[in-house]
Amino acid sequence: MIEVITGSMFSGKTSELIRQIRVVRRGGKQAIIFKPEIDNRYSKDCVVTHDKDEEKSISVKNACEILKHLPKDKVVIGIDEAQFFDNSLVDVLKELNKQGYRIIVAGLDMDYNQEPFGIMPALLAIASEVTKLKAICSICGEPNAMYSVRKTDETETVLVGADQYKAICANCLNKATKN
Ligand code: ZN
Repeated sequence: MIEVITGSMFSGKTSELIRQIRVVRRGGKQAIIFKPEIDNRYSKDCVVTHDKDEEKSISVKNACEILKHLPKDKVVIGIDEAQFFDNSLVDVLKELNKQGYRIIVAGLDMDYNQEPFGIMPALLAIASEVTKLKAICSICGEPNAMYSVRKTDETETVLVGADQYKAICANCLNKATKN
């Protein structure tokens, strides 16, 4: 089963992933969290929320590396920052899904231009469950921000670092683009 937790930056995706993984472990089952190597901004060996809550994770260069780290016994697989993985993650997860793994994926659904982010549309399509979280709008304070926009004029798609971004709602985005 593939479950996807998505939404803008600061919407609590990693917190929700960590919460679900802890529920799995409290139930006496094993779980492993993976993240792409690109995302080592807070820690190489942990997924860390913006509130500095953390849980151990394994950094991998690509999706195939996930397979190398799986033990013989079935575990629940958590994946953070899925939008930074290449296409092969889709096939790897489809295969693990077929083998009966439960997979919980967290990732940004849109990039800073409000365009679908990398493989996320494909992951959302094959998910059996999707949770779309929203952040607090950094302009009006309403809890319905679904866009992550840049504070600077950088145009690279991948610019890692929470301090470079803010979450805003559709209303505020519309107002900002009219001006
Ligand atoms: Zn707003």
